Amino acid sequence: MAKEQNTSFQDVVSHCKKLGFIYQSSEIYGGLSAVYDYGPYGILLKNNIKQYWWKSMVQMNENIVGLDAAIFMDPKVWKASGHVDAFSDPLVDNKDSNKRYRADTLIEDYIESKIQKKIDKDVAKAAKKFGEAFDKAEFLATNGRILDRQKKIDEILNRMNTALNSGDLTDVRQLIIDLDIACPVSGSRNWTEVRQFNLMFSTQGGGATSDDKLYLRPETAQGIFVNFLNVLNTSRQKIPFGIAQIGKAFRNEIVARQFIFRMREFEQMEMQFFVRPGQQQEFYQKWKEARMKWHLALGTSPDKLRFHDHETLAHYADAALDIEFQFPFGFKELEGVHSRTDFDLKAHQEHSGKKLQYFDPELDESYVPCVVETSIGCDRMFLAMMSNAYQIDEAPDSKGVLKERVVLRLHPAIAPIKCAVLPLVKKDEALTKKAREIFDTIKYSFECQYDEKDAVGRRYRRQDELGTPYCITIDEQTIEDNTVTIRERDSMKQERISVSEIEKIVSERVDMRNLLKQL
Ligand code: ATP
Repeated sequence: MAKEQNTSFQDVVSHCKKLGFIYQSSEIYGGLSAVYDYGPYGILLKNNIKQYWWKSMVQMNENIVGLDAAIFMDPKVWKASGHVDAFSDPLVDNKDSNKRYRADTLIEDYIESKIQKKIDKDVAKAAKKFGEAFDKAEFLATNGRILDRQKKIDEILNRMNTALNSGDLTDVRQLIIDLDIACPVSGSRNWTEVRQFNLMFSTQGGGATSDDKLYLRPETAQGIFVNFLNVLNTSRQKIPFGIAQIGKAFRNEIVARQFIFRMREFEQMEMQFFVRPGQQQEFYQKWKEARMKWHLALGTSPDKLRFHDHETLAHYADAALDIEFQFPFGFKELEGVHSRTDFDLKAHQEHSGKKLQYFDPELDESYVPCVVETSIGCDRMFLAMMSNAYQIDEAPDSKGVLKERVVLRLHPAIAPIKCAVLPLVKKDEALTKKAREIFDTIKYSFECQYDEKDAVGRRYRRQDELGTPYCITIDEQTIEDNTVTIRERDSMKQERISVSEIEKIVSERVDMRNLLKQL
């Protein structure tokens, strides 16, 4: 079968728009930047991703419970959490193009394009030269040219992080100048000062005085922290236990490119796991492995996922890593796993005046628990799944000639439509009646689609583009012996099965339990 072609990010974006997965917000008014709406197929896929995450957390773990906290919270929450004072990005403008950039991203992009790419090239060359005998780790650790380049990267990152952490924005600007970074649009090096820009959106409460300033939450985690005591007192949980939540978050991102990768309104799936102080490293390791397993169960190639340990830690963290996915524009953060110590609960304890402690009967003492969190963007996960699934291969047409085929190889458990029901000929009333009967029987079990328009080959292609794992075709023989063909999306193989078996066969193959059992 089928030779596969490389696909670009633009192909994935166009596919999402063309098939009704994603639309730009307020498109008829020209579109609102970095805000997107999910269309009929998009919402099905997104709901399936959320369901997989929710079940893997809340249904599969006796010691994790769910929560749905409000988006608006007392503004003091954001003071306590540090977001009012420090949830900001350093921005810089180019005076000639008037384009705005995140200063740290400009520097990181420089490293990627000017240094890291050269390292990758050298590795690829050496791998070709030495063939099977090539030991990448050893090459990276011993090759002089690579070591020099790596040293340069470390120096730049060190200087940038030191300047950012100490608030020395003049040196961040000086670093951009020293590295001779030019604006990608104007090509000039005419930069403004670097300044901090708070990412929280704010609005007014009912009284419309300055005291009524409300923020749209920039993360869901704080809703979990402030409900720690409520959940503890009402759910009979004992430490270690977790609280999971899926919900909207809002960030006024300075540069929001790359489609749904970086949005101003997005959805997070976060779980905060409360543990006895001193045990956070053990649970950090556990959740690190558990989250990688969750991703791999979806059939994503291990080559496309990697851990990235944070070199510099936020002041409240004692360990942190990203799970990165290889998007069409490179490896980027998909999920964070953070050991946040007792910082958050202590901060809320101090600002609210309420004791946020746990009495540990085994130790016979009370303490503020430590927190290990897993935090993933639902939209970013959606984009990862679409980029991973979108492929172009070849399939024979009705005359047996190989033609290009676009196929979304989504895991069946998250595919938007599980099964399409297709009468072979629209004009044959006996076939359409039978097909309707089948559709009306199986629609109770999973998401189905009835389609009688166009030649059956065209309809198969339509379903392939949507990622539908199974197509059921009703033909003359169905009327005679009550059998249909079932066609599988990836292999395009067809089998003849009895009508009475359809529901069972498809249900088993698209069942989300297939994913959960791998965890
Ligand atoms: P980044 O470095 O990409 O800005 P972050 O480190 O600020 O992300 P976290 O605050 O750890 O991200 O948020 C957890 C997860 O939420 C991220 O791993 C990502 O999947 C998602 N996320 C964060 N910001 C956005 C955004 N603007 N649009 C879409 N998803 C986002």
